[in-house]
Amino acid sequence: DPHGSHERKSLLSPEETEKQLHGLAGPRVELPEATFVDLFQQRARDCPDAIAVEHGSVRWTYRELEHRANRIAHTLLTAGVAREDVVAVVMDRSPDWIAAALGVFLAGGVYLPVRPDFPVERVVTQLERSACAVALTEPGSEKLVRAASARLAAPLTTLSVRRIQSRGGLTEPPGVPVTPGQAAYIYFTSGSTGSPKGALCEHAGFLNHLYAKIEDTGMTAGAGDVVAQIASQCFDISLWQFAAPLLLGGTVRIVDTATQLDVGAFVEEIVQGRVTVLQIVPSYLEVLLTHLEQHPRPLDALRSVSVTGEALGYESVQRWFAAYPDIQLVNAYGATETSDDPMHEVLRGVPERDFVTVGRALRNVHTYVLDENLALAPLGTPGEIAFAGVCVGRGYINDEERTREAFVPDPFRPGNRMYRTGDFGRWLPEDRLEFLGRRDAQVKIRGFRIEIGEIENRLLSMPGVREAAVVTEGDVGEERVLVAFFSGADEVSAEGVRAFLATVVPDYMVPTHIHRVDRLPLTENGKVDKKALARPAGEGA
Ligand code: ADP
Repeated sequence: DPHGSHERKSLLSPEETEKQLHGLAGPRVELPEATFVDLFQQRARDCPDAIAVEHGSVRWTYRELEHRANRIAHTLLTAGVAREDVVAVVMDRSPDWIAAALGVFLAGGVYLPVRPDFPVERVVTQLERSACAVALTEPGSEKLVRAASARLAAPLTTLSVRRIQSRGGLTEPPGVPVTPGQAAYIYFTSGSTGSPKGALCEHAGFLNHLYAKIEDTGMTAGAGDVVAQIASQCFDISLWQFAAPLLLGGTVRIVDTATQLDVGAFVEEIVQGRVTVLQIVPSYLEVLLTHLEQHPRPLDALRSVSVTGEALGYESVQRWFAAYPDIQLVNAYGATETSDDPMHEVLRGVPERDFVTVGRALRNVHTYVLDENLALAPLGTPGEIAFAGVCVGRGYINDEERTREAFVPDPFRPGNRMYRTGDFGRWLPEDRLEFLGRRDAQVKIRGFRIEIGEIENRLLSMPGVREAAVVTEGDVGEERVLVAFFSGADEVSAEGVRAFLATVVPDYMVPTHIHRVDRLPLTENGKVDKKALARPAGEGA
C-alpha cells in the first residue's frame, strides 16, 4: 500500500484529541423547548398582515397562511392522524403546498413530500416504506394517488387540499403539542446506489439548522428578508427555503421550475421580487454567472447566495466576487440524514486558498474526521467525515439494517449517535474542513489509493475550469483508468488541463483520458450525473 494506511492506534496527542472533539465543534447554544410549529404560530400572531408567501401574482399574509394551515391540521386530526403519523403531501410547489406542509407539522404528523410527476412505482415504494396511510392531494395529483393507493395493502385516506379550503371550517390553532424530540419529516434520498432510503429527521435538528443558517448568514427578524423557494419539494433544502423566512416574519417567494430553466426570466424574478437570500446548486450558479457576465445586471436587494449539494468550484467564486463583490457566498455542506447542512463556509471575498472549504460546524454540531477504525484521524490527514450532535437524524424509516450501518454509536460521546457521511475530508491548519469526495469515489489505481474528489478539487482550482468530474473506466480485473471531464473557458484545452494536473498531483492521479465538454450532465437534483459520464463523449487528450 503506497499510502501506508495500515491499522493505527490513536497517534493523537491529548491536545489534538481535545481540539478535534471540542475546539473544532460548533458553538454550544441552548436550544429552546419550542419547535418550528410554536415559532411559526408566534410569527403569525406578531405580524398577521406581513406577506408570508408570494407566487406569481398570489400573495398570502401570515394570517391567511396560518388559517389555511390550521384548517388542514384540523382535517388531518379528524381523519385520525396522530403524533408522528406520516402524511404524504403530493403537490406541486405552490402556496397551498406550503400550507399543507405546515398543516402536517401543526397536527404533529411527519411531512413526506411526494412529487406529482413521480412514477407510480416510486410513489408506492415510498408510501409502503414509510407506512404512510394519509395523503394530501391537489387536482393534478389525484390520479397518481389513486393509482398508488390501489397497489397498497390498505387504501390511503386521501384528502383534497382544495376541498378542505373551500369547505372553510376551523381556523384557530389545533393546539397539538409538538416536542423537539418528535419526528418532523422524511426525505427519500435519490437512490443513486441501491433502493431509495427515507431519511427521518426530528424537530430539534430542523430548528437548530434554521437558527444556525439565519444567524450565520445575517438574516434578521422583521428585516424583510425575501427567500427564493427554488428547490424541488423532494430535495431537503426546499424545507429551509420556506421555513427560515417564516420563522423570521419574512417572505417566501416561490420561483417556478419553468422560470429557472429560462435563466433570463429567473434573474428578472430575483430582481422584481427583491429576493435577498438565494440558495442554488453549483451547476446553477454556473448557469447564472454565465448569463450575468453576458447581461450584467445589478442585484440590489440580494445579500446572500448559498450554494450546496456539491463541490463549489474556485473559479465560480472568483467570477462571483468579480461581478458582485458585496454579495456573500455560502458554501453549505451536509446530508439529508443530518438535518440539511451542518457545516458551512461564509465567503465575503475570494478565499486565499485556491479551493473552497466547507468551513466549520454549525452550532450544536460536532464534525469528526475518522480513520478506518473510527478513531480520530490526525489533523490534516484525510478520513471519513462523521457528524454528531443535534443534527443527526433518527435514521432510515423502517430500515433497521441500513440505519445501523450509517447511524452508529458516537465513540467520543457515549450514549449518542453519529452519522457516517461516506464522504472524505481533512482539517486544514485554519480549522476549516476540506471536502475530498465520496468514500465510494475512493479507488485504487496501480495500487495507489486515490480520492477522486482530490483530483476534482485540483481540476476546479485551475484557472478557466468551471466544472469538473472524474470517473473510472474498466471493470475489476481489467486495468482501471481515470477519466476526467471538464467545462470551462475557450482557451482551456484538455492538453492544458493535463499539463496543469501534472504540476499539482502525483502522476498516478493524472487521468488517462481528459475530455472537454460544453456542460456536465446533471441529475434531477442538479448534481453531476456520474453514471451518465461513465461512457466518454467528445474529444479526449
Ligand atoms: P444535500 O441536501 O446537502 O445536498 P444530500 O443528502 O442530497 O444532501 O447529499 C449529501 C451529499 O452531497 C454529501 O454527503 C456530499 O457528498 C455532497 N455534498 C453536499 N454539499 C456539498 C458541498 N458543499 N460540497 C461538496 N459536496 C457536497
